[in-house]
Order: sequence, then C-alpha cells, then structure tokens
Amino acid sequence: MKRFLLTLVALAGLATASAQLTPNKIVVPDIEGYKTLKGDFHIHTVFTDATVWPVTRVHEAIWEGLDVIAITEHIDTRHQKYVNSGVFVKEKCDRDYSYELAKKAAGKKLLVVHGGEISRGMPPGHWNCLFVKDNDDLCAETEKNDHDHVLAMEGGLKEARNQGAFIMWNHPNWCKQAPNETKMWKEHKKFLKDGYMDAIEIYNMACGYSPEAHEWCLEHNLAMLGNSDCHAPFFMEVDYLHGAHRPVTLVFATEKSLEGVREALDARRSAVFAEGNVYGREQELRPLLEACLKVNSVQFKAKEVVIEFENVSSIPVTLTKGAGSEDTWYARYVVIPPFTTYTYKARPLLDGDKQPAFDKAITEYSVNFVAENFYIGAGKPLSFSVKATR
Ligand SMILES: [Zn+2]
Ligand SMILES: [Zn+2]
Repeated sequence: MKRFLLTLVALAGLATASAQLTPNKIVVPDIEGYKTLKGDFHIHTVFTDATVWPVTRVHEAIWEGLDVIAITEHIDTRHQKYVNSGVFVKEKCDRDYSYELAKKAAGKKLLVVHGGEISRGMPPGHWNCLFVKDNDDLCAETEKNDHDHVLAMEGGLKEARNQGAFIMWNHPNWCKQAPNETKMWKEHKKFLKDGYMDAIEIYNMACGYSPEAHEWCLEHNLAMLGNSDCHAPFFMEVDYLHGAHRPVTLVFATEKSLEGVREALDARRSAVFAEGNVYGREQELRPLLEACLKVNSVQFKAKEVVIEFENVSSIPVTLTKGAGSEDTWYARYVVIPPFTTYTYKARPLLDGDKQPAFDKAITEYSVNFVAENFYIGAGKPLSFSVKATR
C-alpha cells in the first residue's frame, strides 16, 4: 500500500513537472463534481477561407492540451467558390467534409464537434451552429431567402434547430460589423425570444472580450463561449514562445464525451479563459479559483497569519487586498504565475515602532482577497477569504 501511495505521489509530481516542461499545454484542474474540459468551438480550415488542413487543426489542439474543438466552416458561398473553381471535387467535398477529416484524424485523442458558421451582414451577423448533422441542408435553407440577411439566417437557424443544434451568436463586437458600439439589435432580441440563441461568443481571438455580451449571458441565462475563430496556422496567431495561449471555453462536464459537452453547454456550465483572464458566472468561477489556487497551509501565529498559495494551473492569478481587511497589512497587489507558490504574511497594523500581536481572545481570523482577473460580470472581479484558526 505504501509503495502504491509513493508511486501515486511520484506520478502526481511527474504530471506537475510535465505541465511545467510543456508550457504549450493548457492545464486547468477539475472542479468539484465536474471535469474541466478545454474547448475551442470556432475554427476554420482550408475548406472555406482559412489556410490549413483540418487534420492540422486537430494536431494544433492536441499539442495545446485541448479536449474538444468544433470545425465551423462558413457554410455560405465561400465553400462553393472552391468547388466551382475546381480546387475541390464536387462529389466528395460537401460542406461536412472538413469535419469528417478532422473527426477521423482525432480518433480518441480529441473530441470533434460537427459545426457550421452562417455568415451574414449585421444584423444578424455571424452565428455558429454546433452539433449539426448536415451543413448542406443548413445552406439550402439560408439560400431560400438569400436577398435578406435576417430571413436567410432565420431559415438556417430553424434548420439547425431541426437538426438538434446548439446555437451561438458569434463575435457581436467584431469591429467590421460593430464599428462604434456593441449592441443587441432588435433582430437579435427576436431570435433570443424565439429560442434561437443558446450562447454568445463573449471572447473571440480577433475581436477580444465583450463586456456587453458577458452581461447579456448573465441576464438571459446563455452559455458563455470564448473561441479562436482561427484562420491562419495557430503559431502565427498565438505567441506560444512567451507563454500565450489561444482563448478557450472551459466546459464543466460530468464526463469527457460529446454528450457530456452538450449537456454542460445546455446547462450553461461554461466559462472563458483568454489572455490571462477568466470570465464566467460566480457559481463556476468560485470553485474554479479554489481548484487553481490551492491553499497549502494557513498558520495563525501571535503576530501574523501566514498563508501559502500554490497555483496549479496555467491561469495566472492576480490578487489584491480585499475589503474588510483594513486593520491588517499584507501585500496589496500580487501576481501568482502558473505553477508557482506565494506566501502571504498578514499582520496587525503597525503601532509606532512596535509590532502588535493579534488579540489573544481572537481564535479565528479572515484575510480577504480579490482575484482581479476572475470576472463574474463585466468589471466585477471575484472576492474571497482565507480563514485562519487557532
Ligand atoms: Zn464570423
Ligand atoms: Zn468564423
């Protein structure tokens, strides 16, 4: 038994060491009751207007430690241009072919969601349909009203619903379609009311974070997704050499399977990790922060409370002093990078030259923090306390 435990400890050590030695892999721990899956639900390939083969997308995702991707080609005329020009053989290359190539290449190493992007002018803009069955049918429905962006989209979304798809409004903050402000048009409100909006892409690699979309997801109980929308090879878009990652959607699933991903998205259990920040809901972000930033030890001494944190994730954590700790002094701004530890010493406020001790009658003491880069709403970071007892 002892040997078994030692092996386990050694293996755990190896896992941490390998995460540090392969910084390209995104490491995010599971939370209580759920597996934390890392996903990118918006990816293009050479079959529409991107520059890489679908198999490369699979290799890039595995290399970065992802669990799930969606291939989401523009299902509109861009595909047809390649077919018409003879680059692709018409009989073989329907609008689902890139997904099939990716799926085959992924095997059991990566989950691949069958998706498609309907791309129209604003409103209604671009929408991803995930878990579709046949993109050609989606396209046919949009083309019935090709002259009208909203009617074309409605036809496509209706067909997506018939196929049992999960539907997301993409990049509402794209500067080309939202040059001066990010707003929900009346057309979006109607789609939302009619049940065509399950999620919004609150982070897109080309457009960045949309605080408006974050708030809309909270207000209307929609899933929050953060994706790459990558068209170039990833190494050209993401500065891996300096520790950057693509934006990912964190999916809190009961199991690592396509069914598990779908169930979690339907239940709105998702968050976004992008550019060192995490965006989501408090109910997921609080346990996520606890899983990423472990409290290794808390000591309540006569003159100080000593807290050792360990960041076991790829997410850097920025901590500031929280409200309610004004009678204590400790570091007011600390960044705890991935896979590092940091020790706080919180002491009663100085009384002249004398270092005071905590009142002996106090047996419990809370030190308060704000995780500045864990956003549970637009501009709303997550607060937490660490309790010391003696
Ligand atoms: Zn788009
Ligand atoms: Zn796209």
